[in-house]
Amino acid sequence: MTQDLFNLEGRTALVTGSSRGLGNAIARGLAEAGASVVLNGVNRQACEAAARELASHGFSVRALPFDVTEEVSVTRAFEVLDGEGIAIDILVNNAGIQLRKPIVELAVSEWQRVIDTNLTSAFIVGREAARRMIPRKRGKVVNIGSLMSGLGRATVAPYTAAKGGIKLLTQAMAAEWAAHNIQANAIGPGYMLTDMNQALIDNPDFDGWVKGRTPSRRWGRPEELVGAAVFLSSEASNYVNGQIIYVDGGMSAVL
Ligand code: NDP
Repeated sequence: MTQDLFNLEGRTALVTGSSRGLGNAIARGLAEAGASVVLNGVNRQACEAAARELASHGFSVRALPFDVTEEVSVTRAFEVLDGEGIAIDILVNNAGIQLRKPIVELAVSEWQRVIDTNLTSAFIVGREAARRMIPRKRGKVVNIGSLMSGLGRATVAPYTAAKGGIKLLTQAMAAEWAAHNIQANAIGPGYMLTDMNQALIDNPDFDGWVKGRTPSRRWGRPEELVGAAVFLSSEASNYVNGQIIYVDGGMSAVL
């Protein structure tokens, strides 16, 4: 049956940065498709509260707070999962931060923090996941890129460099892991209604620009990423590899 292609029962998904925002919506969507989900964030209380909330709907959920930028924390987290016999079938590299500043005012430490959180994290967590997927000959990696994976915009240089890097890291992962039956793809969300964008949502000029520039004439809702996330996490995408799917109301398609 075609719908079985999208069934995630029996799969376990780790979604980084899923205590809130897009990651939380994706984790919920994967759980609704049948997956057991491992929620993550830096803030332990927020991560555990998000896990309790999802579990209250009857889903199989575990909270695993760790900082995706710290190699030691990431390896320890995977060792905890190993110890509990939990194998990650689906990894969504979603954790990210934004920092808006002109390049000429940017400190190297600020540049580094954005690159570490949005790009290096996908390498570190992806490496740990793939080290375990390769022997099992199965796995799905979904990296969260952005419109900025292919386009620039003033004041977000490190974010743009990191998200451009995510697009090509995804291709590098596909190049190395496809032969092991691992599919690595990316999602490029447009302007979505989350905490990260609150300052922009509250700014009437920016809000007007987003609505005018997006063919759909509105911001995206976090749950609108679920379709692409389930597709790229499921057997429906077994011959899709190294691609980025933009979920952006058409913004990247037009001038
Ligand atoms: P939010 O700010 O709403 O949420 C970010 C999440 O990431 C939180 O759960 C946060 O946890 C977690 N996080 C941040 N730093 C770390 C870290 N070092 N280790 C582990 N977890 C961390 O962001 P969004 O939901 O808006 O964005 C999610 C992803 O989507 C990001 O990669 C972002 O770049 C991307 N994106 C977002 C768009 C948008 O319009 N919102 C558009 C395009 C891409 P905690 O609270 O504990 O820090």
